[in-house]
Amino acid sequence: EKLEEGLDKTRDSFFGKLDRMVRGKDTVDAEVLDELEEILITSDVGVDTTLDIIDHVEARVAQDQYVSAQELNGLIRDEIARLMLEGSEERPADFDAPLPNQPHVIMVVGVNGVGKTTTIGKMAHKYRQAGKSVLMGAGDTFRAAAIEQLEIWADRAGVPLIKQKHGADPAAVAYDTIEAAEARDADVAIVDTAGRLHTKGGLMDELAKMKRVMGRKIPDAPHEVLLVLDASTGQNALRQAEEFIDSVDVTGLALTKLDGTAKGGVVIGVSHQFQVPVKYIGVGEAVEDLQVFDRKGFVQGLFK
Ligand code: GDP
Repeated sequence: EKLEEGLDKTRDSFFGKLDRMVRGKDTVDAEVLDELEEILITSDVGVDTTLDIIDHVEARVAQDQYVSAQELNGLIRDEIARLMLEGSEERPADFDAPLPNQPHVIMVVGVNGVGKTTTIGKMAHKYRQAGKSVLMGAGDTFRAAAIEQLEIWADRAGVPLIKQKHGADPAAVAYDTIEAAEARDADVAIVDTAGRLHTKGGLMDELAKMKRVMGRKIPDAPHEVLLVLDASTGQNALRQAEEFIDSVDVTGLALTKLDGTAKGGVVIGVSHQFQVPVKYIGVGEAVEDLQVFDRKGFVQGLFK
């Protein structure tokens, strides 16, 4: 429900444009396809994904000879559902599903401001609610306020936080965190990381080192590398995804701030363009405002 509400703006913006575009037109011709392309691109679906959708719509139009402008709406819906659902593995595991490792180590990456701290806090809360023991690691030792902010979320979720001083080696914090998780028999260890944009090369090296050091303590750790993206930044989110996915082995995405943005189309683009599943979506600032991503639900919400 919160997701449907959250998608209101995206839906209104996208279908508003589509409706205005097809008004007064009686067939899908090259001009309509051009306009459709522009609508998709300006809805933050991303260029590659837009071209893929246009190709398929064009093929369908050619095949069916005549497609009325009104039918275009249904065609687009089919195409987006196809794109999003194709090759779709099962829905990501719910928080109460059994975890494949103990401790299950999750490293959370992303640029400052995207909602990394909030997402970690929400995840810790959800795992706790599901009866799992959680430990957090304050791996962003670079930003002065990062440790205190994470501490607030740790308290809120009722989980311990492993931390060192501001400026400490983030790899050492990561190591301490999973060592403590092992010692305490924790089910889940969630490790925060820095997200400074400048000195990007430095950041990617730092993340690689954290991963290496964790792997020395527990051979397959981190078991998940979750990239947090702010959906309300549209194309920026796609660019950040590209950079992180190129440098770190990202295993899943969390898209935040889907409430109240008209740029929800970005979810379609990231799911299609990168071979990385969207696992979670953030639909608000409160601790319960994190949902396990359900593609079918998303497509339905977009076209309700
Ligand atoms: P970080 O710098 O990546 O750790 O970002 P924070 O977790 O501190 O979040 C930055 C801002 O985004 C805060 O004001 C959060 O309340 C807000 N935020 C995070 N997730 C969401 C979300 O899903 N929806 C909304 N509306 N705000 C969010």
